[in-house]
Amino acid sequence: MSHQPSSITRAVRAGIAQDREHGAVVPPIHLTSTFAFECFGKARQFDYTRSGNPTRAQLADAIAGLEHGAGAVVTSTGMSAVGLVLALTRPGDVVIVAHDCYGGTQRLLRALAGKGHFELQFRDLTTACGRRETAGRRPEPQDFSGARIVWIETPSNPLLRITDLRATCAAAHAAGALAVVDNTFLSPALQQPLAFGADIVVHSTTKYLNGHSDVVGGAVVARDLALHEELAWWANATGVTGAPFDSFLTLRGIRTLFPRIRQHEANAAAVAQALAGHPAVARVHYPGLASHPGHELAREQQLGFGAMLSFELAGGAGAVEPFTRSLQCFTLAESLGGVESLVAHPATMTHASMSAEARAAAGISDSLVRLSVGTEDAADLVHDVITALDAAHAETRVLRPSVSTAPSSVAATEPRAQTDIVLLGAGSIGRELLSQLAAFGGGFRVCGLIDRSGYVFDASGIASDRLRELRELKDKGGRLAETATGVVATAGQALERISGAGLWQPILVDATAADTTDVLELALARGWDVVLANKVPLAASFESAERLWRRARLHGRRILHEATVGAGLPVIDTLRKLQEAGDRILSIEGCPSGTLGFVFGELGRGRSFSDALHAAVAAGYAEPDPRADLSGVDVARKALILARLIGYSGDLGDIAVESLVPRGLQDVPRETFLERIGEADAAWRTRVESARDRGVVIRYRARATSTSVAVGLVEVAESDPLGTLQGSDNQFSFVTERYLEQPLVIRGPGAGPAVTAAGVFNDLLRLASERGGDPGSRAVRPARAPALTPSTA
Ligand code: PLP
Repeated sequence: MSHQPSSITRAVRAGIAQDREHGAVVPPIHLTSTFAFECFGKARQFDYTRSGNPTRAQLADAIAGLEHGAGAVVTSTGMSAVGLVLALTRPGDVVIVAHDCYGGTQRLLRALAGKGHFELQFRDLTTACGRRETAGRRPEPQDFSGARIVWIETPSNPLLRITDLRATCAAAHAAGALAVVDNTFLSPALQQPLAFGADIVVHSTTKYLNGHSDVVGGAVVARDLALHEELAWWANATGVTGAPFDSFLTLRGIRTLFPRIRQHEANAAAVAQALAGHPAVARVHYPGLASHPGHELAREQQLGFGAMLSFELAGGAGAVEPFTRSLQCFTLAESLGGVESLVAHPATMTHASMSAEARAAAGISDSLVRLSVGTEDAADLVHDVITALDAAHAETRVLRPSVSTAPSSVAATEPRAQTDIVLLGAGSIGRELLSQLAAFGGGFRVCGLIDRSGYVFDASGIASDRLRELRELKDKGGRLAETATGVVATAGQALERISGAGLWQPILVDATAADTTDVLELALARGWDVVLANKVPLAASFESAERLWRRARLHGRRILHEATVGAGLPVIDTLRKLQEAGDRILSIEGCPSGTLGFVFGELGRGRSFSDALHAAVAAGYAEPDPRADLSGVDVARKALILARLIGYSGDLGDIAVESLVPRGLQDVPRETFLERIGEADAAWRTRVESARDRGVVIRYRARATSTSVAVGLVEVAESDPLGTLQGSDNQFSFVTERYLEQPLVIRGPGAGPAVTAAGVFNDLLRLASERGGDPGSRAVRPARAPALTPSTA
């Protein structure tokens, strides 16, 4: 069999390179009302444009081909296509129509029925034929006896209900009726009703087929030739055929139908997810959501879920105006299917021609909003919708409970003071944070824990006893996925699933030490704020870190990360305050490592290098493998993160880092390293004594400016702030335009899980208080409060 081009190819190539006269690649437009006869009594193929026109014929062939019909009639509007089909009826015929089909179709049907053109019955066509997935079996077909036409619209407008095409068409045929399907919402790219038994397909080509909102038009495709010819006769007789110029534009639109639809659909899925997770939304109608009653059926008979969706605002009809007013990327307008996103309020716009009773019967409430999701950047659309929902929510102050499936203690009309947390990584810092949260009491709710094996999640908050058990399990090296409620998943999959569960702007705490950039990006895109103890994502390549910040800005979300640089010290807070006050930071320097601060303090007191290092490990100051501290990479990451906050655009590889790991011990196992580190003691003793003789002390220091970062050993006077460093303290001195002679010095406890977790906790408190919750009024103090002192160094 010869190769048959796909619909995608046929859509692009419709009418291409067929011009015999000049070889025009794009078919010329025939703007003429009439055609010369070849000679007396001999008309050409086309004689008068109402009856036929070459440009319109090319469009009709393209649409008939995409729908696999015998022929298509191109009409002036979608409504004239509807009217054309109704021309097939006689007085006394019964027309059965989906009760929630397009309002304009209903208006015409009612008006014609009112004049006795036919008898009209509205039916919910989804109830008998569209609930297989809930009933678990194919339901009884509806009885359409006596009907001439059964008018189906699936997905329906505006509730996106799905009608079982195969069953409904078969039931229509059993009654001797024609099955007519309005396929406007999906286009032939996503649904081909003739394959499921429909006799006629109707389109408003104004929508996806043209796709650029610059033409109104329609089409009627018939499965068999005789029916097509009857429709073509009526189209000419009633004069509803489309104009050549409109046909030319629509054919041009069809060439990009498939790639457009793909983009439309991906965007709609992202918007639907965002809506589903927002408390200002009571219900989302989108067949792509697994929760949609027609989801399974849509999967069966559609090639995609389309880009139309609607939803009900929890704030009721009063929330519609602030929501639509706050949107930037969605234009308030009738119609759909163009590359630009549109928002409509069915009750006052598309379906205003229906009576309030008819709307209520069809389930179209006054709080229903319909979106036609365009082909703009998905991130912009999601951000726009979330921002507008937040605005509508703030104006109406009405929330639904955060969890729709379980009873919630939050009353539907109360603003919530609860902050939901999902913890990524349950290592020593993560477990310590869980203890601190447990000790803190109300205000925070831990809903999810994610580790390398999978996750545990409870949308109403993991009970405190269960959290304690999970903490103990992780203490012993257990895996979350292996617990009774654990689920095997990657971190990305876990987040994807949790984010669909309707938490109210949860906070993702990243207490891992891995490259979690993808997971963080996903969280931000889903409207989560992020708190980091993990340095890796912000110390990754400049582009990668920038992308993360950009994503946060785009979605209006926060990334707080005090614990990535200074454990529990308010280093970033201070830096931001200085910047906000108009000061310019010239350099930040100090020792941002509790382990190295401790080791060099002890060396000065006469302790051996290996002894000091072992003591740091025993006290829990060091990283699991202390070479991470000694190599300077951990310090370099902190310095890099700080430097980027003041304008540095380099990468980790650009930083000069002095490693203190002796050559030969870099690649040996950790235990061997700890056994053999004593080999370096003698050299260190000599170096420390020589420094003492010269009245200086050795310190490990990081220095960051907007153009350079250096990390390594320095010798400083004993009286220098760095020289007086105690225990595992961290220290940062800011040299700024205002603190030029006397740097601003911040010093305080800088090592250990408790201190780092306190840093994370303070970021959580800050976010909670910014959202208007109560917990922000208290602050967590590390064991000893940091000292903020202008120094005279
Ligand atoms: N069918 C459906 C499903 C529609 O949404 C519309 C218009 O919105 C029409 C038909 C009518 O099309 P037109 O506006 O091109 O006349």
